[in-house]
Amino acid sequence: MRSQDYDRLYLSPPHLGRHEINYLHKALEDNWVAPTGPNLDGFERDICEFTGAGHCIALTSGTAAIHLGLILLGVGPGDVVLCPSFTFVATANPITYLGATPVFVDSEADTWNLCPERLREAIEDQLRQGRQPKALLVVHLYGMPAKLREILAIAAEYNIPVLEDAAEALGSRYAGQPLGSFGAVSVFSFNGNKILTTSGGGALVTNNSDLARRARYLASQAKDAAPHYQHSETGYNYRLSNLLAGIGRGQMELIEDRVKRRREIYAWYREHLAGIPGLQLAPTEPTGSRSNRWLTTLLLDPAETTVTPEQLRLHLETRNIESRPLWKPLHLQPLFATAPMYGGNLCADLFARGLCLPSGTAMTEMDLRRVTDAVKEIL
Ligand SMILES: *Cc1c(COP(=O)(O)O)cnc(C)c1O
Repeated sequence: MRSQDYDRLYLSPPHLGRHEINYLHKALEDNWVAPTGPNLDGFERDICEFTGAGHCIALTSGTAAIHLGLILLGVGPGDVVLCPSFTFVATANPITYLGATPVFVDSEADTWNLCPERLREAIEDQLRQGRQPKALLVVHLYGMPAKLREILAIAAEYNIPVLEDAAEALGSRYAGQPLGSFGAVSVFSFNGNKILTTSGGGALVTNNSDLARRARYLASQAKDAAPHYQHSETGYNYRLSNLLAGIGRGQMELIEDRVKRRREIYAWYREHLAGIPGLQLAPTEPTGSRSNRWLTTLLLDPAETTVTPEQLRLHLETRNIESRPLWKPLHLQPLFATAPMYGGNLCADLFARGLCLPSGTAMTEMDLRRVTDAVKEIL
C-alpha cells in the first residue's frame, strides 16, 4: 500500500482537526515528553466529562485496557469469561493472556450484539458444569449499543461483573446515557481506525475509586510505596504517553462533530442504496439508542442477488475503494477452535453476507457518490 494514495478511499482513516498540533507543540516545548504530564491528565479529564465516569486511566491500547479490566474483575487461570463471538479478536485475546477460557455467545438480529437468551443459556449450562463465569464482556459492534437492559439484568441475576468493550462506540448512547458508562469497568480504543485516534491508545473508565487506583498501579509496573523500587505483584507498562494524549485532547474536542458526520454517512448510504434488490443496510437503532455509526455495514441476501460480498469487495477494489468483510466470528477462528460456543448461526450468517463500507468522517459527497455508484455498477 502506498502511503500517499490520495485517490484511494479507505475504510476509516484517521481524521485530525486543527488543535492536536497545539497540544503536541506545548508538550514538546515544556519538555513533557516523559510519560504522564498535563496532556495525560487533561485527556483523562475530557473522557470523564464526556462519559460521566468518575475515573479514567489512559492506556497504550484498548487491548491493554481490556487486559487490565479483566485483572480488576479478578479473572485468573482456569476461569471462564463470557464473550460475544461476533467481535474483533482483541476483545477475547486478554482472556487467554490470563490463562482463562472464553465462552462464546451468539448475536441477536436487532443490534448484532450479544443475544440475551443465548447468554442465559450459556450461563445456565456453565453453572451445570460447575463453573461460575468470572466476568462478562459486552461489545457494541460498529458503534451499535447492545441490549444493555436485558444483558445487565441477567449479569446481576447471576452475580457476574460486566466489562464493557466500547472500543468502537465512543459517542454512542443507550437510554440517553453514553456507552462506556455501563460496565463495572468500561474500555475505549483510540487506535488509528477508530472514530477518534491518538495513533494508538486506549482508556479504562470506572466509577469505582478502588478499581481506578489499582488500574493506575498495575499500569505503571505495580510499584509499592517506597523510595526504592519495590514490587509485590506483577505489573505492566501500559500508560499512554503524554505526547499521544495531546493528540487525544485535540480529538476529544471533535467527538460530537465526528459522531454527527458518521451518522450522516450512514444516512447517505441508506438513501442512495435504497431499493437495490438483495441489499440491506445494518439495522436502525432500537428506540432510545444512538449508534455513532463507526462503520456503515451492509448485508446481501443470496435469495435476491447472485452477487456475493467478496465479489462486491473485489469490484470496489477495482475502483480503488477499500471495503472489508464483517468481523469473522471468534468461534470460527482456528485460534478458538476448542472454545465453547452457544448458538452461532446468526453471527456466522452475518459474516457470510456482510461488508463494511468506507465511513471516514473526512469523506466528501463526491467520495460517497463514488462508493454508491460503484456498488450500483455491480448490483
Ligand atoms: C479496536 C478494538 C479493540 C482493541 O483496541 P486496540 O486499541 O486496537 O488495542 C477491542 N475491541 C474491539 C471491539 C475493537 O474494535
